[in-house]
Amino acid sequence: MNTYARQNIAFARGEGVWLWDTNGNKYLDAVSGVAVCGLGHAHPAVADALCAQARTLVHTSNLYQIPNQIELGEQLTRLSGMDKVFFGNSGAEANEAAIKLARLYGRKKNIDNPLIIVAENSFHGRTLATLSATGNKKIQAGFEPLVAGFIRVPYDDLDAIARVAENTSDVVAILIELVQGEGGVRIPDPGYLAGLRQLCDDNGWLLMLDEIQTGTCRTGKWFAYQHTAILPDVVTLAKGLGNGVPIGCCLARGVAAQLFQPGNHGSTFGGNPLAAAAALAVLTTLREQNLAQRAEELGRRIKQSLSSALEGVSGVTSVRGLGLMIGIELDRPCAALVPAALAQGLLINVTADRVVRLLPPLVMTDAEADLLTGQLANLIISFTQT
Ligand code: PLP
Repeated sequence: MNTYARQNIAFARGEGVWLWDTNGNKYLDAVSGVAVCGLGHAHPAVADALCAQARTLVHTSNLYQIPNQIELGEQLTRLSGMDKVFFGNSGAEANEAAIKLARLYGRKKNIDNPLIIVAENSFHGRTLATLSATGNKKIQAGFEPLVAGFIRVPYDDLDAIARVAENTSDVVAILIELVQGEGGVRIPDPGYLAGLRQLCDDNGWLLMLDEIQTGTCRTGKWFAYQHTAILPDVVTLAKGLGNGVPIGCCLARGVAAQLFQPGNHGSTFGGNPLAAAAALAVLTTLREQNLAQRAEELGRRIKQSLSSALEGVSGVTSVRGLGLMIGIELDRPCAALVPAALAQGLLINVTADRVVRLLPPLVMTDAEADLLTGQLANLIISFTQT
């Protein structure tokens, strides 16, 4: 169906940060399939794991034990500080699980109409519940009536949440991104997460973090909340977890980890042997190659190069980022930069109308990062001068 305004290009193969189109032209990929292929394209560890698993057993369903899913769950709970995990196939499904957990938590507290606090400008997915949680009217338009049970507050505004706490007793959880990705690579004040934790503790709410875009080392830590000492109650993950193989999950700890009982939730494919094999290969590679630290180093390098190349360029209002989630905000709509970059063999993304978003693979070399920043800075300079 006509759901995407696709660009007129198809890729035939990839290797690391590079893609080749069906005509044999080569492109530097600074989008990674929208924060998915953190290990780059056709990573041998993922390819080998997939081939071996496909020859052994692809799927059995969650009616039976799945040993490599159990292994994956153990690794993810250890890495995240959570107790339990539910596996689905996408980010939206991971957030659906979190929303269902919040509602069960409300029922447990005898709250009949449980409310989840969500932020303006957020993105949580395209299913009915997750688009209702999303803070973007364009994404919701036409799909009303929306799913009820969300209260919206401005992002990075703890006072607004405190006011909600004063005025309603039906809140059960906060669902938030620690860097708003689709919303334009927005990074909150350093004390925001601690403030959210405090508000949740004071009011008996679950702190639920959408780490679908920020997780699996993209921001320079396994999870973005690990830039602080704060632990959430629920974490959702997808995108980079399978390096392109569809898998998502909802992690939880404490009371939130005990809410689902057999019959409450499920997924036919979720965490099947094939997806679990891919995700295990991803976690092993991220760990063995220390790619969290590499994402931090590369992010710093890219931000520094762009900041100095774009310093004083009128039309560029900000260069910001956390690890390898980088945004360059302009003072005007800049979607036209995407085809301009493509014509020069560079894949970039523009989100929130005026923000060039870079989500490069974590395996990029310094030389590739310098190529990216040099080319992009020139493109932005000529764009802002016309
Ligand atoms: N949450 C966040 C923060 C995302 O960035 C996305 C996808 O862009 C989603 C949820 C939805 O994920 P999916 O497209 O896998 O359903």
